[in-house]
Amino acid sequence: MSDQLDQTIVARDGRILLFSCQRFIDDIVMGNGCLICGAFPHDKQFNDEHIVPRWLLKRYNLFDKTVILPTGEHRHYRSYTVPCCVECNSLLGVQVETPVSQLLDGKFEDLVQRLDEANLRLLFTWLSLLFFKVHLKDRTVRVHKDRRLGHEVIGDIYDWGDMHHLHAVARSPFTKASLMPETIGSLQIFEIDGALSSDGYDYLDFTFDQTLICRLGRIGIVATLNDSTAAESAWSERLDLIEGPISELQLREVGAMFAVANRNLISRPTFMSLVHDKTTVMIAGTRPPLKLKEFDPEGFGHALLFAVRNFVDARAISVNGTRDPKTVAAAIETGYVRFLTMDGKFIPPAANQDAGG
Ligand SMILES: [Zn+2]
Repeated sequence: MSDQLDQTIVARDGRILLFSCQRFIDDIVMGNGCLICGAFPHDKQFNDEHIVPRWLLKRYNLFDKTVILPTGEHRHYRSYTVPCCVECNSLLGVQVETPVSQLLDGKFEDLVQRLDEANLRLLFTWLSLLFFKVHLKDRTVRVHKDRRLGHEVIGDIYDWGDMHHLHAVARSPFTKASLMPETIGSLQIFEIDGALSSDGYDYLDFTFDQTLICRLGRIGIVATLNDSTAAESAWSERLDLIEGPISELQLREVGAMFAVANRNLISRPTFMSLVHDKTTVMIAGTRPPLKLKEFDPEGFGHALLFAVRNFVDARAISVNGTRDPKTVAAAIETGYVRFLTMDGKFIPPAANQDAGG
């Protein structure tokens, strides 16, 4: 691409302050440029960035465990990486990973106490980075495990333009961009009660709704990255009913609620990166009045089933007295099964093992 036509903005010190959407796709998504600064491996030393950061692998002893990709393939966390240069890797370490690892170290009450405005932004940036890395990796994950069925990679089916803003947020520690309040999405944290389903770390996302559910030990996080807080506003009455710790299953339901609200927004927020004098970057947004399409129970049921599928298959959910996965899945798909609240009341987390239909 010719530099004259490209709208990429480069600072006087050579840092790319703003990638044009095309250059973002060419260099970062389809190319092998460093996901933060955009440099290529022949120009700079690379050591690659762990998608699930090292401190988290260490804290939850995940180095030898595998991550299950959307295709069902397993990959070791230790080799689950994306291209990153040494310089950006250490910048992310100092500015993002170390402070986030401290923020999320300890009990839920400690996190609540530490979560001031600055730390909320830090956590939001970290979640944006995590989500972006997960999906940047998808460009190399084949849709079909069996090559005879085709060579498409999961990344082929994304609209990468949607990820352009997310990328700007994820690399804001590098550009020193200030994030205006409208660019921060829904972000809720919960204490997780009851038995934990798997390792200390659990991650699931609704890719196209830019909504992720993340659990670190007994801290549960649900975030929607591109909704300018619409999802948490849409569900505020229901969220207010939550009286204390929630179960993993309930955390998944909050994720489904956020994803569906974001999907159903009639007017979406818009985002833009503004660069002043080739030095300062500001990421701004507009937050339109909250208006949602009419609630569609079946759409919600599909989303909820996606979020709790592994609990259904493990026979961990009983609906109307049965744990048969097929029957339970069909009941959830109707959109009338709830784990979090019922008739305007919070359902105690222990009751979750026998949800009403
Ligand atoms: Zn770099």
